[in-house]
Amino acid sequence: MREAVATGGCQCGAVRYALYVTPENSHVCHCRMCQRATGGLFAALAGAKKADFAWTKGTPVFFASSNLARRGFCGECGTPLSFAYDLPEARFYVTIGSLDDPEAAPVIKQYGLESKLSYVRFCEELPQERTAEDAAAQEFLAKMQSRQA
Ligand SMILES: [Zn+2]
Ligand SMILES: [Zn+2]
Repeated sequence: MREAVATGGCQCGAVRYALYVTPENSHVCHCRMCQRATGGLFAALAGAKKADFAWTKGTPVFFASSNLARRGFCGECGTPLSFAYDLPEARFYVTIGSLDDPEAAPVIKQYGLESKLSYVRFCEELPQERTAEDAAAQEFLAKMQSRQA
């Protein structure tokens, strides 16, 4: 059994998870898909390699928010729990608010700047990036088809 470095779960406790490394690339994403998926003003996510993450109690329900990614949430209480692209090398992200200790994942970057809401003043000093600013991401995201309504 590996030692968990960070743990978390949903509101009702039906779904629990563990990260076996310090949460990586802790960020917020202001994109419209993340806003809709979380019901919040932005998504706050921290990740780990897929091999460094495990569900430890229960299993979430997944919604394929696009043809390239799945988002997990508790089927009992609805807490948004995860986001991951369907690529083996992609990080598996959990929502920072669902961590038992969100202080362990201080936000270091903002994504999806093109959809940042005008009244959101948040971590203004952090590096900011518009979606698909780098060429590799642009190529990947060009294939994306949203499945959100
Ligand atoms: Zn729950
Ligand atoms: Zn997003």
